[in-house]
Amino acid sequence: LALLDELQRIENEQGRVRLRRWGERTLDLDILLYGDQIIQNERLTVPHYDMKNREFVIVPLNDIAQDLVLPEGEKVADLVKAFENHQMHKIKNSEKIDRT
Ligand code: ATP
Ligand code: CA
Ligand code: CA
Repeated sequence: LALLDELQRIENEQGRVRLRRWGERTLDLDILLYGDQIIQNERLTVPHYDMKNREFVIVPLNDIAQDLVLPEGEKVADLVKAFENHQMHKIKNSEKIDRT
C-alpha cells in the first residue's frame, strides 16, 4: 500500500487528469507483480487483474523476464504465445516517434 501511495503521488504530481475510464491520461502507474505475493484488498489486487490479457504488458515483460513464473504458476513464456502476431517492437534511442 505504501508503494501504491507513492505511485499515486507521482501520478498526481504529473497532473493526472482522467476524462473517461481507460481513456487517455497523463500517466498510469500500476503494480503488476510484487514478488510472489497475492494481494487482494479494497485498494490493491496483485497480480494486476488483467495483465495476462494485455499485449502491451506481456510482450515487454517476456522481453525482460522470459523465465518468469507468475504466483499462480503461469509462465510468461507461455502467456506470450497468445500474442504471436503482435506488432510491438522496442523503440531505439535514435528512433523518432511519429505522433501524427
Ligand atoms: P486498469 O486497472 O484496468 O489498468 P486503470 O489503471 O485505468 O485500470 P485506475 O483508475 O488507474 O485504473 O485505478 C483505479 C484503482 O485501482 C486505484 O485507485 C487502485 O486503488 C486500484 N488498484 C487495484 N489494484 C491495483 C494495482 N495492482 N496497481 C494499481 N492500482 C490498483
Ligand atoms: Ca492501468
Ligand atoms: Ca492505474
